[in-house]
Amino acid sequence: MSDWLIPLAIVLATVAFMELTAYSVHRWIMHGPLGWGWHRSHHERPDHQGSGFEKNDLYGIVFSVIAAALFIFSDGWPWWVAVGMTCYGFIYLFLHDCLVHQRWPFRHIPRKGYLRRVYQAHRLHHAVDGREGCVSFGFIYAPRPDRLKQQLRDAGTLRREAAEPDKQG
Ligand SMILES: [Zn+2]
Ligand SMILES: [Zn+2]
Repeated sequence: MSDWLIPLAIVLATVAFMELTAYSVHRWIMHGPLGWGWHRSHHERPDHQGSGFEKNDLYGIVFSVIAAALFIFSDGWPWWVAVGMTCYGFIYLFLHDCLVHQRWPFRHIPRKGYLRRVYQAHRLHHAVDGREGCVSFGFIYAPRPDRLKQQLRDAGTLRREAAEPDKQG
């Protein structure tokens, strides 16, 4: 009866771990001198509606290759880690690429609830010019928008026209 419990726990734990990993990679590598070269493309043209590949997508590809290697070369519990990584990939694609940046024909701007909060938090991530002084590096975890705005004001990095994320996108 509990045969599915352990795989389910591994998948959920992997999704949580991937969010921590993505947060750390985004904050300290992608926004650092080492990783900005790939990530910059995404900050310069975050809304590519309908257009193709951007250099920043290489990060997603790196994670996909790791998951694919796990699928191919492992069985037992690491295989379920690969399932969790893949689930995280789809959650990221849906929240970040579809919902916030509307890269695919997806024209829904959430008006309330959790999705609204994710939308606003990531819009505020993009409300800064350059790689320094940004906020909200997670993709599933979204801090309160009013706190993020305050952080940006305190840091003095908020672009004036970006102060109201409701009016974007
Ligand atoms: Zn970023
Ligand atoms: Zn983004």
